[in-house]
Amino acid sequence: MRPIRPGDRGPAVTEIRTILLSLELLPAAGTHADEFDLDTERAVRAFQQSRGLSVDGRVGAETWRALDAARWRLGARTLYHAVPEPLTGEDVRSLQERLLEMGYDVGRADSIYGIRTARAVAQFQREVGLTPDGSCGPHTMNALRRIGRKVVGGRPQWLRESDAIRQSGPALVGKTVVIDPGHGGTDPGMVVPDGSLRWTEADLVHDLASRLEGRLAASGVRVQLTRGPSPDRCLPDTDRALLANSLGADVFISLHLDGHANPDAEGVATYHYGTDNGVTSATGERLAGLVQREIVARTGLRDCRTHAKTWELLRLTRMPAVRVEVGYLTSPTDRAHLVDPRFRDRVVEAIVAAVQRMYYPIERDVPTGSLDVSELRAVVAAGTVID
Ligand SMILES: [Zn+2]
Repeated sequence: MRPIRPGDRGPAVTEIRTILLSLELLPAAGTHADEFDLDTERAVRAFQQSRGLSVDGRVGAETWRALDAARWRLGARTLYHAVPEPLTGEDVRSLQERLLEMGYDVGRADSIYGIRTARAVAQFQREVGLTPDGSCGPHTMNALRRIGRKVVGGRPQWLRESDAIRQSGPALVGKTVVIDPGHGGTDPGMVVPDGSLRWTEADLVHDLASRLEGRLAASGVRVQLTRGPSPDRCLPDTDRALLANSLGADVFISLHLDGHANPDAEGVATYHYGTDNGVTSATGERLAGLVQREIVARTGLRDCRTHAKTWELLRLTRMPAVRVEVGYLTSPTDRAHLVDPRFRDRVVEAIVAAVQRMYYPIERDVPTGSLDVSELRAVVAAGTVID
Protein backbone atom coordinates (compact mmCIF):
# COMPACT_ATOMS: atom_id res chain seq x y z
CA MET A 1 0.00 0.00 0.00
CA ARG A 2 1.07 3.57 -0.52
CA PRO A 3 2.15 5.08 2.79
CA ILE A 4 -0.25 7.56 4.34
CA ARG A 5 1.74 10.74 4.66
CA PRO A 6 1.61 14.39 5.77
CA GLY A 7 -1.01 16.32 3.79
CA ASP A 8 -3.27 13.27 3.26
CA ARG A 9 -6.93 13.42 4.26
CA GLY A 10 -9.63 10.81 4.71
CA PRO A 11 -11.03 8.07 6.93
CA ALA A 12 -7.65 6.25 7.19
CA VAL A 13 -6.13 9.41 8.66
CA THR A 14 -9.03 9.69 11.11
CA GLU A 15 -8.36 6.15 12.23
CA ILE A 16 -4.65 6.73 12.69
CA ARG A 17 -5.33 9.90 14.67
CA THR A 18 -7.82 8.07 16.88
CA ILE A 19 -5.23 5.47 17.80
CA LEU A 20 -2.55 8.10 18.41
CA LEU A 21 -4.99 10.03 20.60
CA SER A 22 -5.73 6.92 22.67
CA LEU A 23 -1.97 6.46 23.12
CA GLU A 24 -1.80 10.08 24.31
CA LEU A 25 0.67 10.91 21.57
CA LEU A 26 -1.63 13.52 20.09
CA PRO A 27 -2.51 16.52 22.27
CA ALA A 28 -6.25 16.56 21.44
CA ALA A 29 -8.62 16.02 18.56
CA GLY A 30 -7.97 18.94 16.20
CA THR A 31 -10.62 20.65 14.17
CA HIS A 32 -9.73 18.53 11.17
CA ALA A 33 -9.87 15.01 12.51
CA ASP A 34 -9.24 13.54 9.07
CA GLU A 35 -6.16 15.62 8.27
CA PHE A 36 -2.56 14.36 8.48
CA ASP A 37 -1.24 17.62 9.96
CA LEU A 38 2.05 18.50 11.62
CA ASP A 39 0.89 17.25 15.03
CA THR A 40 -0.05 13.93 13.46
CA GLU A 41 3.34 13.62 11.83
CA ARG A 42 5.09 14.32 15.14
CA ALA A 43 2.90 11.74 16.85
CA VAL A 44 3.64 9.13 14.17
CA ARG A 45 7.37 9.76 14.58
CA ALA A 46 7.12 9.44 18.37
CA PHE A 47 5.17 6.22 17.95
CA GLN A 48 7.67 4.78 15.47
CA GLN A 49 10.50 5.64 17.78
CA SER A 50 8.81 3.96 20.76
CA ARG A 51 8.27 0.76 18.77
CA GLY A 52 11.72 0.54 17.25
CA LEU A 53 10.42 1.21 13.74
CA SER A 54 12.22 3.35 11.19
CA VAL A 55 11.19 6.90 11.91
CA ASP A 56 9.88 8.58 8.75
CA GLY A 57 6.61 10.16 9.96
CA ARG A 58 4.58 8.18 7.43
CA VAL A 59 2.27 5.25 7.96
CA GLY A 60 3.38 2.39 5.74
CA ALA A 61 2.44 -1.28 6.12
CA GLU A 62 4.76 -1.93 9.07
CA THR A 63 3.77 1.16 11.04
CA TRP A 64 0.12 0.42 10.30
CA ARG A 65 0.42 -3.08 11.76
CA ALA A 66 2.04 -1.67 14.88
CA LEU A 67 -0.66 0.99 15.21
CA ASP A 68 -3.38 -1.58 14.68
CA ALA A 69 -1.93 -3.76 17.45
CA ALA A 70 -1.54 -0.74 19.71
CA ARG A 71 -5.22 0.13 19.61
CA TRP A 72 -6.17 -2.84 21.73
CA ARG A 73 -6.71 -1.94 25.35
CA LEU A 74 -6.52 -4.82 27.79
CA GLY A 75 -10.05 -6.11 28.32
CA ALA A 76 -11.42 -4.88 25.01
CA ARG A 77 -11.24 -8.31 23.42
CA THR A 78 -10.76 -11.89 24.53
CA LEU A 79 -7.16 -12.99 24.20
CA TYR A 80 -6.20 -16.54 23.46
CA HIS A 81 -3.44 -18.60 21.97
CA ALA A 82 -4.21 -18.60 18.26
CA VAL A 83 -2.25 -20.78 15.84
CA PRO A 84 -0.57 -20.34 13.47
CA GLU A 85 -1.11 -16.54 13.61
CA PRO A 86 -0.80 -15.49 17.25
CA LEU A 87 -2.70 -12.46 18.54
CA THR A 88 -0.52 -9.45 19.04
CA GLY A 89 -1.17 -6.08 20.54
CA GLU A 90 -0.81 -3.57 23.28
CA ASP A 91 -3.35 -5.48 25.35
CA VAL A 92 -1.17 -8.59 25.15
CA ARG A 93 1.79 -6.54 26.30
CA SER A 94 -0.19 -5.08 29.24
CA LEU A 95 -1.32 -8.56 30.22
CA GLN A 96 2.22 -9.90 30.03
CA GLU A 97 3.54 -7.04 32.14
CA ARG A 98 0.89 -7.61 34.75
CA LEU A 99 1.60 -11.35 34.88
CA LEU A 100 5.32 -10.68 35.15
CA GLU A 101 4.68 -8.30 38.05
CA MET A 102 2.83 -11.07 39.82
CA GLY A 103 5.68 -13.49 39.27
CA TYR A 104 4.34 -15.58 36.41
CA ASP A 105 6.72 -16.73 33.75
CA VAL A 106 5.70 -15.24 30.42
CA GLY A 107 9.26 -14.77 29.22
CA ARG A 108 9.55 -11.28 27.74
CA ALA A 109 6.62 -8.87 27.38
CA ASP A 110 6.76 -9.06 23.57
CA SER A 111 3.09 -8.29 22.80
CA ILE A 112 2.65 -11.74 21.26
CA TYR A 113 0.16 -14.15 22.84
CA GLY A 114 2.28 -17.27 22.50
CA ILE A 115 2.15 -20.61 24.29
CA ARG A 116 4.17 -19.33 27.23
CA THR A 117 1.71 -16.51 27.85
CA ALA A 118 -1.20 -18.94 27.55
CA ARG A 119 0.43 -21.25 30.12
CA ALA A 120 1.01 -18.38 32.53
CA VAL A 121 -2.63 -17.31 32.15
CA ALA A 122 -3.78 -20.89 32.80
CA GLN A 123 -1.66 -21.03 35.93
CA PHE A 124 -3.11 -17.74 37.14
CA GLN A 125 -6.63 -18.99 36.40
CA ARG A 126 -6.03 -22.19 38.33
CA GLU A 127 -4.79 -20.25 41.32
CA VAL A 128 -7.78 -17.94 41.43
CA GLY A 129 -10.26 -20.77 40.90
CA LEU A 130 -11.16 -20.21 37.26
CA THR A 131 -11.21 -22.77 34.49
CA PRO A 132 -7.59 -22.89 33.33
CA ASP A 133 -8.20 -22.57 29.59
CA GLY A 134 -5.29 -20.19 29.03
CA SER A 135 -7.42 -17.53 27.39
CA CYS A 136 -8.07 -14.12 28.83
CA GLY A 137 -11.76 -13.21 28.75
CA PRO A 138 -14.03 -11.17 31.04
CA HIS A 139 -13.76 -13.46 34.10
CA THR A 140 -10.00 -13.59 33.97
CA MET A 141 -9.90 -9.83 33.42
CA ASN A 142 -12.04 -9.30 36.52
CA ALA A 143 -9.71 -11.45 38.57
CA LEU A 144 -6.72 -9.54 37.21
CA ARG A 145 -8.33 -6.20 37.97
CA ARG A 146 -9.07 -7.20 41.52
CA ILE A 147 -5.68 -8.55 42.44
CA GLY A 148 -3.29 -7.45 39.74
CA ARG A 149 -3.13 -3.91 40.97
CA LYS A 150 -2.68 -4.65 44.65
CA VAL A 151 0.27 -6.83 44.13
CA VAL A 152 3.67 -5.94 42.78
CA GLY A 153 6.66 -8.20 43.13
CA GLY A 154 6.60 -11.66 44.61
CA ARG A 155 3.91 -14.25 44.35
CA PRO A 156 0.85 -13.22 46.27
CA GLN A 157 -0.24 -16.74 46.97
CA TRP A 158 -2.31 -15.95 50.03
CA LEU A 159 -4.13 -13.08 48.40
CA ARG A 160 -4.96 -15.23 45.44
CA GLU A 161 -6.28 -17.96 47.67
CA SER A 162 -8.74 -15.54 49.25
CA ASP A 163 -9.70 -14.26 45.86
CA ALA A 164 -10.39 -17.75 44.60
CA ILE A 165 -12.65 -18.37 47.55
CA ARG A 166 -14.57 -15.11 47.15
CA GLN A 167 -14.99 -15.63 43.50
CA SER A 168 -16.11 -19.20 43.41
CA GLY A 169 -19.42 -18.61 45.17
CA PRO A 170 -21.17 -20.53 47.92
CA ALA A 171 -22.03 -23.71 46.01
CA LEU A 172 -19.93 -26.79 46.57
CA VAL A 173 -20.85 -28.23 43.18
CA GLY A 174 -17.81 -28.49 40.97
CA LYS A 175 -15.29 -27.83 43.74
CA THR A 176 -12.41 -30.25 44.02
CA VAL A 177 -11.45 -31.41 47.48
CA VAL A 178 -8.38 -33.54 47.98
CA ILE A 179 -8.49 -35.66 51.10
CA ASP A 180 -5.21 -36.99 52.38
CA PRO A 181 -5.37 -39.95 54.74
CA GLY A 182 -1.98 -39.83 56.46
CA HIS A 183 0.60 -42.63 56.37
CA GLY A 184 -0.27 -45.92 54.63
CA GLY A 185 1.73 -48.68 52.98
CA THR A 186 4.81 -49.52 54.98
CA ASP A 187 4.01 -46.75 57.46
CA PRO A 188 0.98 -47.53 59.68
CA GLY A 189 1.40 -44.31 61.70
CA MET A 190 0.32 -44.59 65.33
CA VAL A 191 -0.29 -48.23 66.35
CA VAL A 192 -2.13 -49.15 69.53
CA PRO A 193 -2.87 -52.74 70.64
CA ASP A 194 -6.26 -53.10 72.27
CA GLY A 195 -6.88 -56.59 73.64
CA SER A 196 -6.78 -58.87 70.64
CA LEU A 197 -7.22 -55.90 68.33
CA ARG A 198 -4.63 -53.63 66.88
CA TRP A 199 -5.72 -50.13 65.87
CA THR A 200 -3.62 -48.25 63.36
CA GLU A 201 -3.77 -44.61 62.48
CA ALA A 202 -3.39 -45.41 58.75
CA ASP A 203 -6.54 -47.58 58.71
CA LEU A 204 -8.68 -45.28 60.83
CA VAL A 205 -7.85 -42.14 58.89
CA HIS A 206 -8.47 -43.98 55.63
CA ASP A 207 -11.90 -44.94 56.90
CA LEU A 208 -12.54 -41.30 57.86
CA ALA A 209 -11.36 -40.19 54.44
CA SER A 210 -13.68 -42.62 52.62
CA ARG A 211 -16.67 -41.49 54.67
CA LEU A 212 -15.77 -37.88 53.99
CA GLU A 213 -15.41 -38.66 50.31
CA GLY A 214 -18.93 -40.12 50.24
CA ARG A 215 -20.49 -37.14 51.99
CA LEU A 216 -18.73 -34.54 49.88
CA ALA A 217 -19.41 -36.38 46.63
CA ALA A 218 -23.11 -36.41 47.54
CA SER A 219 -22.94 -32.61 47.71
CA GLY A 220 -21.60 -32.40 44.18
CA VAL A 221 -17.95 -32.05 45.18
CA ARG A 222 -15.24 -33.76 43.16
CA VAL A 223 -13.19 -35.71 45.66
CA GLN A 224 -9.81 -37.31 45.28
CA LEU A 225 -7.98 -39.32 47.93
CA THR A 226 -4.19 -39.25 47.95
CA ARG A 227 -4.03 -42.98 48.60
CA GLY A 228 -6.07 -46.16 48.71
CA PRO A 229 -6.70 -48.35 51.79
CA SER A 230 -3.51 -50.39 51.41
CA PRO A 231 -0.96 -48.79 49.09
CA ASP A 232 2.35 -50.50 48.26
CA ARG A 233 4.38 -47.70 49.70
CA CYS A 234 3.95 -44.58 51.77
CA LEU A 235 3.67 -41.46 49.65
CA PRO A 236 5.88 -38.63 51.00
CA ASP A 237 4.11 -35.41 52.00
CA THR A 238 5.77 -33.54 49.13
CA ASP A 239 4.12 -35.86 46.60
CA ARG A 240 0.77 -35.51 48.33
CA ALA A 241 0.99 -31.72 48.05
CA LEU A 242 2.05 -31.83 44.40
CA LEU A 243 -0.78 -34.24 43.62
CA ALA A 244 -3.29 -31.75 45.09
CA ASN A 245 -1.70 -28.96 43.03
CA SER A 246 -1.83 -30.98 39.84
CA LEU A 247 -5.52 -31.73 40.41
CA GLY A 248 -6.21 -28.04 40.83
CA ALA A 249 -7.81 -28.75 44.20
CA ASP A 250 -9.85 -26.03 45.90
CA VAL A 251 -9.33 -27.43 49.36
CA PHE A 252 -6.85 -29.89 50.85
CA ILE A 253 -7.57 -31.81 54.02
CA SER A 254 -5.01 -34.11 55.58
CA LEU A 255 -6.25 -36.51 58.26
CA HIS A 256 -4.13 -37.88 61.09
CA LEU A 257 -4.49 -39.16 64.62
CA ASP A 258 -2.19 -38.05 67.38
CA GLY A 259 -0.39 -40.11 69.98
CA HIS A 260 1.51 -39.53 73.19
CA ALA A 261 3.27 -41.58 75.85
CA ASN A 262 0.95 -40.02 78.40
CA PRO A 263 -2.51 -41.65 78.01
CA ASP A 264 -4.10 -38.51 79.45
CA ALA A 265 -3.15 -36.52 76.35
CA GLU A 266 -6.34 -36.16 74.29
CA GLY A 267 -8.20 -33.87 71.94
CA VAL A 268 -8.32 -32.53 68.41
CA ALA A 269 -5.94 -30.00 66.83
CA THR A 270 -5.86 -28.46 63.35
CA TYR A 271 -2.83 -27.07 61.54
CA HIS A 272 -2.51 -24.53 58.74
CA TYR A 273 0.43 -22.91 56.98
CA GLY A 274 2.15 -20.14 58.86
CA THR A 275 5.45 -19.09 60.37
CA ASP A 276 6.44 -17.90 63.82
CA ASN A 277 6.80 -14.34 62.58
CA GLY A 278 3.19 -14.07 61.54
CA VAL A 279 3.26 -15.00 57.87
CA THR A 280 0.13 -17.04 57.42
CA SER A 281 -2.21 -18.46 54.84
CA ALA A 282 -5.33 -16.46 55.67
CA THR A 283 -7.65 -18.92 54.00
CA GLY A 284 -5.81 -21.89 55.47
CA GLU A 285 -6.16 -20.33 58.90
CA ARG A 286 -9.85 -19.73 58.35
CA LEU A 287 -10.44 -23.29 57.18
CA ALA A 288 -8.46 -24.62 60.14
CA GLY A 289 -10.58 -22.53 62.53
CA LEU A 290 -13.82 -23.77 60.99
CA VAL A 291 -12.75 -27.42 60.99
CA GLN A 292 -11.51 -27.19 64.55
CA ARG A 293 -14.62 -25.46 65.92
CA GLU A 294 -17.06 -27.71 64.05
CA ILE A 295 -15.33 -30.88 65.25
CA VAL A 296 -15.18 -29.67 68.85
CA ALA A 297 -18.84 -28.60 68.75
CA ARG A 298 -20.10 -31.79 67.13
CA THR A 299 -17.97 -34.42 68.83
CA GLY A 300 -17.04 -33.09 72.24
CA LEU A 301 -13.34 -33.87 71.66
CA ARG A 302 -11.10 -31.67 73.78
CA ASP A 303 -10.11 -28.46 71.98
CA CYS A 304 -6.36 -28.45 71.37
CA ARG A 305 -6.83 -25.41 69.09
CA THR A 306 -5.33 -24.46 65.72
CA HIS A 307 -1.65 -23.93 65.06
CA ALA A 308 0.53 -22.47 62.31
CA LYS A 309 3.20 -24.80 60.88
CA THR A 310 5.58 -24.64 57.94
CA TRP A 311 5.33 -28.34 57.14
CA GLU A 312 5.92 -29.15 53.48
CA LEU A 313 2.42 -30.50 53.13
CA LEU A 314 1.02 -27.08 54.07
CA ARG A 315 3.73 -25.00 52.46
CA LEU A 316 3.72 -26.61 49.02
CA THR A 317 -0.03 -26.88 48.55
CA ARG A 318 -1.41 -23.98 46.56
CA MET A 319 -4.93 -24.10 47.98
CA PRO A 320 -6.29 -23.67 51.51
CA ALA A 321 -4.80 -26.69 53.25
CA VAL A 322 -5.18 -28.08 56.74
CA ARG A 323 -3.98 -31.09 58.67
CA VAL A 324 -6.34 -32.35 61.32
CA GLU A 325 -5.18 -34.54 64.19
CA VAL A 326 -8.56 -36.01 65.06
CA GLY A 327 -7.90 -37.12 68.64
CA TYR A 328 -5.25 -39.24 70.35
CA LEU A 329 -5.20 -42.92 69.52
CA THR A 330 -3.18 -43.39 72.74
CA SER A 331 -5.94 -41.85 74.86
CA PRO A 332 -8.44 -44.50 76.07
CA THR A 333 -11.18 -41.84 75.96
CA ASP A 334 -10.45 -40.64 72.41
CA ARG A 335 -9.81 -44.18 71.20
CA ALA A 336 -13.19 -45.42 72.46
CA HIS A 337 -14.75 -42.67 70.31
CA LEU A 338 -12.56 -43.14 67.27
CA VAL A 339 -13.23 -46.86 66.90
CA ASP A 340 -16.98 -46.16 66.83
CA PRO A 341 -18.15 -45.66 63.20
CA ARG A 342 -21.01 -43.37 64.31
CA PHE A 343 -18.49 -41.10 65.98
CA ARG A 344 -16.41 -41.03 62.81
CA ASP A 345 -19.53 -39.99 60.92
CA ARG A 346 -19.93 -37.04 63.27
CA VAL A 347 -16.33 -36.02 62.59
CA VAL A 348 -17.06 -36.24 58.87
CA GLU A 349 -20.21 -34.11 59.22
CA ALA A 350 -18.17 -31.51 61.05
CA ILE A 351 -15.59 -31.35 58.28
CA VAL A 352 -18.26 -31.13 55.57
CA ALA A 353 -19.90 -28.25 57.45
CA ALA A 354 -16.53 -26.51 57.72
CA VAL A 355 -15.83 -26.87 54.02
CA GLN A 356 -19.28 -25.54 53.18
CA ARG A 357 -18.86 -22.55 55.51
CA MET A 358 -15.55 -21.82 53.84
CA TYR A 359 -17.54 -20.81 50.76
CA TYR A 360 -20.09 -18.65 52.53
CA PRO A 361 -19.40 -14.96 52.44
CA ILE A 362 -18.28 -14.03 55.97
CA GLU A 363 -21.43 -11.97 56.55
CA ARG A 364 -23.66 -14.93 55.70
CA ASP A 365 -21.79 -17.43 57.80
CA VAL A 366 -23.75 -19.52 60.27
CA PRO A 367 -23.06 -20.41 63.90
CA THR A 368 -20.78 -23.37 64.53
CA GLY A 369 -22.62 -26.66 64.80
CA SER A 370 -25.81 -25.25 63.26
CA LEU A 371 -25.39 -26.30 59.66
CA ASP A 372 -27.48 -29.37 58.84
CA VAL A 373 -25.21 -31.05 56.33
CA SER A 374 -27.94 -33.52 55.35
CA GLU A 375 -29.69 -30.51 53.78
CA LEU A 376 -26.69 -29.53 51.74
CA ARG A 377 -27.65 -31.47 48.67
CA ALA A 378 -31.10 -29.85 48.47
CA VAL A 379 -29.57 -26.46 49.05
CA VAL A 380 -26.97 -26.98 46.38
CA ALA A 381 -29.59 -28.27 43.96
CA ALA A 382 -31.73 -25.19 44.58
CA GLY A 383 -28.71 -23.00 44.03
CA THR A 384 -29.28 -21.05 47.21
CA VAL A 385 -27.41 -20.43 50.40
CA ILE A 386 -28.67 -21.33 53.84
CA ASP A 387 -29.20 -18.18 55.87
ZN1 LIG B 1 0.02 -39.16 61.57
